[in-house]
Amino acid sequence: MDDLKSYSLGELKAYLKSQNFAAFRAEQIFYWIYAKKVCGFDSMTNLPKDLRDHFKSKFYLSDISLNERQISQDGTEKFSFQLNDKNLIESVVIADKLRNTLCISTQAGCRFSCRFCLSGKTGFIRNLSVSEIINQYLLVNRFIAPKKITNIVFMGMGEPLDNFENAVKAITILTDPKAIAFSKRKITISTCGLIPEIQAMKKLDLGVKLSISLHSADNDLREKIMPVNKKYPLKELIQALKKLKPERDGLTFEYLLLSINTRVEDAEKLAKLLKGIKSKVNLIPYNGSNFQFKAPEPEDLELFTQTLKKRGVFFTVRKSKGQDISAACGQLAVYRKEKAK
Ligand code: SAH
Repeated sequence: MDDLKSYSLGELKAYLKSQNFAAFRAEQIFYWIYAKKVCGFDSMTNLPKDLRDHFKSKFYLSDISLNERQISQDGTEKFSFQLNDKNLIESVVIADKLRNTLCISTQAGCRFSCRFCLSGKTGFIRNLSVSEIINQYLLVNRFIAPKKITNIVFMGMGEPLDNFENAVKAITILTDPKAIAFSKRKITISTCGLIPEIQAMKKLDLGVKLSISLHSADNDLREKIMPVNKKYPLKELIQALKKLKPERDGLTFEYLLLSINTRVEDAEKLAKLLKGIKSKVNLIPYNGSNFQFKAPEPEDLELFTQTLKKRGVFFTVRKSKGQDISAACGQLAVYRKEKAK
């Protein structure tokens, strides 16, 4: 049995043709799954019976089950979902006046071991399937109704570009006008800097925004806090990004605020590194008592941001939300049900 929610529209059309069914049925099936949100093939009343029977014997419509829903004092919500193999993954909704941003996970655990991140500390368990990624969206949207998710960031657990095929296919289904029809411009993929996959994604021209977890403009320091920098050093990463002409889609650099990367010289280096790249820097307050790092002293941070301003670096400061329920950046972890309870 195959999971129908892991099929893109193109794949489903190809499958139908291969089985001598009309390709346009794929659009009808997508309508039932994503607009009508039915749970079974018998509800798809405009499909001929032989087609319904065929699908019943070959496919199922997957779901993930809610394990826990927590609401923070600031309105941030964390959802823990149980997968079929009992792994628990987490999704977060960050609400502000205008937006409800869903932070989605793409892997159970992560293999990149950024020194400041809890998801990295747990190690890698497995990639999420396409439907496990999409079902986070479908379920959270159902739970928060009548509110609706307005933005999606691939910034939950895992490295989306390390689960490239599934992340790309999930985006295709999320943005397909015949499926979920989510606006491409409202989706951001965040990566620790996997150069070949960044290039491959750009070639696909998905139209989603790209965010790079930079965290330091100094190669040695970046390597210390992000081991992935050994494989893809800063200089190569920046060169690759320049070639991609990223400004069309919108490029952001995420920069974690630690005591070790917010000296005046760090701001100077950052300004120099990003010169000529049309982008925005998103400064992220450090969440975590689990690691050896410290947040900067307020007066050092002030000097750091003043220097960025002087050097013409465009930046915003991300509000840290949901700390009381461990829903903030870098606080998501994967558990198995037996251990969690
Ligand atoms: N693997 C992807 C996406 C997941 S992490 C990436 O690296 O971009 C999403 C963001 O949270 C990244 O910018 C990451 O560096 C940041 N982050 C991780 N740990 C954090 C922490 N303890 N405090 C604040 N931000 C953190």
